Amino acid sequence: MEGMPDTQLFADVIGQDAAVSSLRAAIVRPVHAYLLVGPAGSGKRASALSFAASLLCAAGGDGTCDICRRVLGGIHPDLVAFEREGPWITIGMAQQVSLAAARSPVEGDRKVLMLSDFHLVKEAGPALLKTIEEPPPSTVFVITAEFMPPELVTIASRCVVIEFRPLPLEAVAAALQAGGVEAGLALELATAADGRLDRARLLAGDSEFGVRRRAWQAVPERLDGNGATAVAIAGELVAHLERSVAPLRARHEAEVAELDARVARANEVTGAKAGKRPAKTGAKELEERHRREIRRQRTDELRAGLAALAGVYRDRLAAGGPSSVAGDAVESVRLIQELYANLAYNPNELLQLQALLVKLGRQPARVG
Ligand SMILES: [Zn+2]
Repeated sequence: MEGMPDTQLFADVIGQDAAVSSLRAAIVRPVHAYLLVGPAGSGKRASALSFAASLLCAAGGDGTCDICRRVLGGIHPDLVAFEREGPWITIGMAQQVSLAAARSPVEGDRKVLMLSDFHLVKEAGPALLKTIEEPPPSTVFVITAEFMPPELVTIASRCVVIEFRPLPLEAVAAALQAGGVEAGLALELATAADGRLDRARLLAGDSEFGVRRRAWQAVPERLDGNGATAVAIAGELVAHLERSVAPLRARHEAEVAELDARVARANEVTGAKAGKRPAKTGAKELEERHRREIRRQRTDELRAGLAALAGVYRDRLAAGGPSSVAGDAVESVRLIQELYANLAYNPNELLQLQALLVKLGRQPARVG
């Protein structure tokens, strides 16, 4: 925008030029609701925060003033972020959103309601439609969703829809390289992260990533047809899953410390008594988001591991050999894909993995 100073806003967002310029253009005369739609890890959350900062900042989004910094840190009272607590958006949350939308801004003349994961809106959709359609003039909705299920279509028709594309692996790898990761590793990390920049960055800071990958790739040669072996290996893999959460927990602890520090500073400014938190600190939402991210990390790791395991059998297929070996490899890949597809429906990783490895171990012909 003309005359706009150098800004940190949208700096974390890569490969979404069209979406970012739409959002930047929208700041001039914002409408009542925006829906950011695109796959996980494509930059929706970072964009939503930067957009909210632009909407609330007195300078139109310089990215560096006190307002911008508080919005980006999630502690500005006129940024109200809603995080779902269960697997779906609930009617209860819809009611809270409607109440919040009706309240006047605290500091400025505008407030932003940020609603995440709206592909999970389910039956709460109709309860929210009226509010999202006609909020008070001071309220702007910034909603994110990974895709557009039928329940979201009506809400979407009341919003300006901004599409986020899946990031090409090369773009994710390039972003990692810009952060100092070596080229070959950057592409491997981008692949293992399935093109999600947030996950790729997490893996880049995880020294155990290679160890875990090799553990999965070693499974076929370790299986000996014995059920006890399969069960033992499944146990090891689940232990790897547990440890894979460590870098995420470290990041979460840093976020909590940052939130506490910001709240303490804000209390100083407003003269609030030490130890007394303002009503809305975002701590509960942060906790909810962290819990979901941990669950998601485990699922992601399991999927990445299964993909690495299937890769070994695919390599066997590609290497040729007797047709019996090929048939076993095809069957093994099928079994792995079946579990991969069912992960969302059955959360018991250990039992599922044990069952898979026992079946894989029974595939008689092995290439050694
Ligand atoms: Zn600002």
